[in-house]
Amino acid sequence: MNALKQLGNNTIRWFDSEAEPFSELTSQNTDIKVEPRKINWQRVIPFLAVHLTCLCVFLVGWSPVAIIVCLAMFWLRMFAITAFYHRYFSHRSFKTNRFWQFIFAVIGASAAQRGPLWWASHHRKHHIHSDEANDLHSPKNGFWWSHMGWFTCEEAFKTDYSVIKDWAKFPELRFINRFDILVPFLCATSLFILGEMLNTFKPSLNTNGWQMLIWGFFISTVALAHATFTINSLCHTWGKRRFETKDDSRNNPYLAILTLGEGWHNNHHRYAISARQGFYWWEIDISYYILKFLSWFGIVYDLRPVPKKIILEGIDNDRN
Ligand SMILES: [Zn+2]
Ligand SMILES: [Zn+2]
Repeated sequence: MNALKQLGNNTIRWFDSEAEPFSELTSQNTDIKVEPRKINWQRVIPFLAVHLTCLCVFLVGWSPVAIIVCLAMFWLRMFAITAFYHRYFSHRSFKTNRFWQFIFAVIGASAAQRGPLWWASHHRKHHIHSDEANDLHSPKNGFWWSHMGWFTCEEAFKTDYSVIKDWAKFPELRFINRFDILVPFLCATSLFILGEMLNTFKPSLNTNGWQMLIWGFFISTVALAHATFTINSLCHTWGKRRFETKDDSRNNPYLAILTLGEGWHNNHHRYAISARQGFYWWEIDISYYILKFLSWFGIVYDLRPVPKKIILEGIDNDRN
C-alpha cells in the first residue's frame, strides 16, 4: 500500500511540486539530514526520459537552423540561470524591477532546473554549509551524487521557504515555482510550433516541429543541465584555489567559458554577493559583461562590486 501511495505521491508531484496527498510519506524527521540520502527512482523517470528523448535525433535528423536554435536556447537559458537564478535570486547581487525579474525567472524556469525559489533556496543552503555534512551536493559524498544524484532525494525535493522569504512574497514567482513543469512544457510546445511554421512558410530551411523540439528543447536542455551541474561537481574538485575558503571550491577557466562565468567558483565562495565572479580583467565572465550591458539601459542596476580589500587579497595570494 505504501509503495502505491509513494507512486501516487511522486506522479502528482511531477505536475504540482507542492502537492502532498500522502504527506506522511514525505515529512522529514530531523535525523534525515545526517543519513545518506536515498535516490528516489520514481523521481528520476522524467529526468531519464528527457535524456532518452535526445536519441530521437536519429529519427528527426538535423539542419543548420536546428543547430542554431539549439545553441541559442543553450546560451540564453544559461544566462538566465547564471545571472538570475544564481546571482540575482540566490545572492541578490544586483537589482531589477518586477517585470524583468519575472521575465528572467520564466526564461530560467524553461531550463527545467525547477523553479527559481527552489533553485535559490538550495543554493543559499549550499553557501551556508558548503562541503560540510549538511551540504546536499558536496562531492565529498561522491562525484555523481554532487553532479546529479542529490536533487533526486526527498530532502532535495521541497523548496525551503524559510530561506527564501524575500522572494516568496511574489505570487507570480511562487506560481512558476510550484508548477515547475509548466514553463518547460510551454517552451517545448512553442519550439515545436516554430518548427512547423518554418516548415510551412520557409521550407528551404529544411526543418520541422519535431526537429526543433529535439534540438531546440531536449538536446539543448540536457547539455545546459550538465553544464550547470559541473559547478556543483567539478568546481569543487578541479581547478585552482586562490582563496582559503572553508570549502573545496575551485576556479576553473574552462568551466567559466562553458557556464558564462560561473567557473570562478572559488572567487565566488570568497565573496558571493558581488555581481561578477571573474574578479580580474583576465577572468572571462560573460554573464557579468551582459549584466553590465543591460545596466546601460536600466534593465538591471546597483550591480554589487567586489571590495578592493578582496581584490588586493587575491593579488597577494597569487604572488605567494
Ligand atoms: Zn559551491
Ligand atoms: Zn552562489
